[in-house]
Amino acid sequence: MSQTGFQTLHGMVDILPDEVTKWQYLENIIRETAREFHFSEIRTPILEPTELIARGIGQLTDIVSKEMFAFQRGETNYVLRPECTAPVARAYVQHRLEQRGGAQKLFYIGPMFRAERPQKGRQRQFHQFGAELIGSALPEADVEIIRFMMSVYEKIGLKNMSLQLNSVGDPESRAAYRKALQDYFRPHFSSLSEVSQTRFEQNPMRILDSKEEEDQLFLENVPLITGYLNEECLSHYQKVKTLLEESGISYTENPRLVRGLDYYTRTAFELTSPDLGSQDALGGGGRYDLLIEEIGGKGTPAVGFASGMERIMIACEALGISLGSEPALDIYFVCRGEEAQRWAMQAIREVRNQGLSATLDFSGKSIKAQLKDANRNNARFAVIAGETELEQQLFTLRNMVESQESSLSLEEILTHIKS
Ligand code: AMP
Repeated sequence: MSQTGFQTLHGMVDILPDEVTKWQYLENIIRETAREFHFSEIRTPILEPTELIARGIGQLTDIVSKEMFAFQRGETNYVLRPECTAPVARAYVQHRLEQRGGAQKLFYIGPMFRAERPQKGRQRQFHQFGAELIGSALPEADVEIIRFMMSVYEKIGLKNMSLQLNSVGDPESRAAYRKALQDYFRPHFSSLSEVSQTRFEQNPMRILDSKEEEDQLFLENVPLITGYLNEECLSHYQKVKTLLEESGISYTENPRLVRGLDYYTRTAFELTSPDLGSQDALGGGGRYDLLIEEIGGKGTPAVGFASGMERIMIACEALGISLGSEPALDIYFVCRGEEAQRWAMQAIREVRNQGLSATLDFSGKSIKAQLKDANRNNARFAVIAGETELEQQLFTLRNMVESQESSLSLEEILTHIKS
């Protein structure tokens, strides 16, 4: 579209054919890894009830308080989903997926929407893939989720990443920690940023997430959650660490990594890459044993992760990792005249029936221009149908790589190409 015509909305991006090949390559890796790990795909609607997202992510988060694309229609409040954990949890409850027996292993790929200030690595429509393991409280489930995530990155060829790990405890441990945080911040309350002052009462753990300059000074010596974890949380955390070590997955403990919502419990993790610049998070996740009850289901432990797909593209580009290119075109039919075109249209059907890819010119170009077009489309072969060919009822097969030509019937061409 020209400069004066319509443009994509701010923070929304077209994925053009050259790029789509990379996306398909990445999606194939995700699906292949999911198959190996036996996760089943789930597809939920792009629109969800606003209340689900508000409860599922939490009123106090940036996502819910200022980044939702939400609107009302009739009596219903809709939101473009900003993430997929709450929608998957909703689907689990709504369709009673626990009846399928055992813990459910689900994965998704799709667009998410957040009204953030766009910059490199941050869009308003972006894509995530992620997985949820619902119905298990075992540390093995946490590690299965982390393994799945890491396995995708490994297959892509991304190295040099850092997995940060923490335990955010359970409601009991967190009540003690919350009190400790409030005791620590209280004397400094008036010097804290405005956001942190609001979080002080409602959710002091989220002060640890603060990027505000005036808070940084107080964050240096803040009490860490590790000292407040109860027996059960400590033992769960220890088991996760041991299992990760046994899986050959290295991690760094980061006691400041918080997922400061009431529904998050125990394990929290984040994967970052130095190849991403300021938006360095590739993905993250954790355990959310209280979410399903919060959205109206029966108390069900669960753990999951979400990864940003645009960030993978950026990291791959920075590292020169190729994500696949457009598959080659087997045959480009080059025709002159209406009769030859009809002959080619018949032949092309047979070619495609044999599972080969083929196309022809649709713009009435000269033979020379068609051959150029065949080249531009990376065709392996051109099949030429001109007057002489029609007369002899034999096509000219041109090998585009070796520039060799031979006169052949369609049958001979198919045998030749397939061999
Ligand atoms: P979150 O759901 O916020 O934990 O995000 C999980 C991952 O999604 C992040 O680590 C990013 O890789 C990616 N992500 C989140 N927000 C955006 C965005 N606005 N644009 C692009 N990627 C994003």
